[in-house]
Amino acid sequence: MNFIQTRGCDKNRPQSVTFSEAILNPIASFGGLYVPESLPELGEEFLVKHLNSSYKELASDMLGRFEIDIEKSVIDEALKLYDKFDNPSNPVPVVKVKENLYVSELYHGPTRAFKDMALQPFGAVLSSIAQKRGEHYLILAATSGDTGPAALETFKNRANVQVACLYPDGGTSDVQRLQMVTEDGKNLKVIGIRGVFDDAQNALKRLLASDEFKSALKEKNILLSAANSVNFGRIIFQIIYHIHSYLELVRQSAITMGEKVYLNVPSGNFGNALGAYYGWKMGLPVEKIIISSNENNVLTRLIKTGKYDLRNSHVVSTTSPAMDILKSSNVERILYDMFGYERTKDLMGDLESKNFYELSATELSELQKSFDADFCNGEEGKKYINTTFYKDGYLMDPHTATCMKSYETCSKKDVKSIIYSTAEWTKFSPVIANALTGEVDAEDIVALESISKESNLEIPAMVKGLFSKPIVQKSIIEKEDIEKEILKFL
Ligand SMILES: *Cc1c(COP(=O)(O)O)cnc(C)c1O
Repeated sequence: MNFIQTRGCDKNRPQSVTFSEAILNPIASFGGLYVPESLPELGEEFLVKHLNSSYKELASDMLGRFEIDIEKSVIDEALKLYDKFDNPSNPVPVVKVKENLYVSELYHGPTRAFKDMALQPFGAVLSSIAQKRGEHYLILAATSGDTGPAALETFKNRANVQVACLYPDGGTSDVQRLQMVTEDGKNLKVIGIRGVFDDAQNALKRLLASDEFKSALKEKNILLSAANSVNFGRIIFQIIYHIHSYLELVRQSAITMGEKVYLNVPSGNFGNALGAYYGWKMGLPVEKIIISSNENNVLTRLIKTGKYDLRNSHVVSTTSPAMDILKSSNVERILYDMFGYERTKDLMGDLESKNFYELSATELSELQKSFDADFCNGEEGKKYINTTFYKDGYLMDPHTATCMKSYETCSKKDVKSIIYSTAEWTKFSPVIANALTGEVDAEDIVALESISKESNLEIPAMVKGLFSKPIVQKSIIEKEDIEKEILKFL
C-alpha cells in the first residue's frame, strides 16, 4: 500500500510514496502529512480470530494487512521489543476501576510513558531502513518530557542513526530529566535549552526547514529526519493497542464481541486519538471517541463548536504538561479523512495565515458523529486523582485524570468506557503527592517515597536507579547555539 498527501500533491513530489519514504521524509506537499491510500478492513472476523492471540501476534497480523514495504522479518524483530515491557506476554494490561470503567495502561515500557508503545518498534524499523539504503540519519527530537527519553531509549546504539534531543532546562520533572541526561549511548546527544518547550520545538522546525543546516549535514553524509507523531511510522503502531484493549474486555467477559465501547483519550498532538479513529474505521465496535484535554482546550472547542481558534490563545503550563499544546498536528489527518484534500488544504491554510478556521454546520455534525470532548483543569484533576485512589483504589497520573471529567460529562453510563493511561505515577510524582497528601513542592525523590508509602506501590527499579546514575549529558545552552552544538557532536 502507498501513502498519499493530506493537502494534495504539488507536482514536485510523487503523487504517492512507499511507507519507507513517508517515514524518512514525513512532511508532504504544501506542508501536509502522509496518510494511507485506504485502510485495511478487518471486521469482526479479525477480532474473533485474535481473541486468544498474544499482543505480538495481533500486531504482526494487523501490520501485515497494511501491505507496507517492510519485510515481515523486520517487523517481527521490531515487535520483540515489547518483551522489554513489564509483562512480555501482556504489555498493555486493562484494569477495571469501577462499574463500566476500565483503564488501558500504556505506560509499562522502559521509559514509563505511552510514547514507548510506538517509538520502541519505530526505532528498530527506521534503523533497518537506513541500513538497507546505506544512509545515515540524524533524528531530531524536541520534548516536553516523554518523547525525549523514549526516542533516546529506542535509538541508543542502533546502526546508521544519531539522535539530537532538545529539552527545556527546568521544564521537565526530575525523573524525565534524569532519564535523558544519564543516557550514555555514543550516538545520542541531549541538549538542555535555556527556554521553554516551544523554544525547543521552534528550533527543531527551523532546523528541519534550513537548507544551510541540511547542506552542513550533507558534507558529513548525513540526512535529517524527526521522531514526532506527524510521522506515520509512529501512528501505525498506535492502532494496535486500541484493538488489543477491546479484545481484553471481551476476554475479561466485561463485554460481548460486537458490543460498542467508548474510547476516552487524553490528547495533545492527537496521535493516540487518531489511532483509535483508524481502529474504529478498520472494524472496531466503538460508540464514540472522547477527547480529553487540560486548560489548553483547543480540541474541546473544536469538537463542541467547529472552530479551531488560536487568536489570542497562548499555551499555559499545567499539571499535565505532555498535553500543553495548541497546534495539534494529527487533527489534519481527520480533516482529510472526513472532508478530502482540497478542503483540508484550505482549512490548514487558514489556520496558518489567520490562526483560525471554522467548519460548516454539516462538517461539524460529521465530526461530532465520531468525537465528543471535554477539558479538565489542574484542581479538578487532582480531585479525581484523590477520589479515584481513596474510593476505588486506583492510582492514576494527571494526564489520565483528565479523562475522568469527560467520562462523567460525555458518556452514557450503561456503555463501557476504556480510558487510556499515558504515564505511570512515577513520572509526575510531585503533582500526585500533592493530590493525595497535600504536600507541596516536594522534589521527585521525596514525592516518590511518600506516594509509595501511601499506596503500597513499589517504585520501579529503573526509576529509583536514575537518582544514582552518573550524569553524562551536560550541555545546557542558549537557544541561539543549538545548531553549532549539534554540528560539534556530529
Ligand atoms: C504524548 C502524551 C500525551 C498526548 O498524546 P498525543 O498522542 O500527542 O495526543 C498524553 N499523555 C502523555 C503522558 C504523553 O506523554
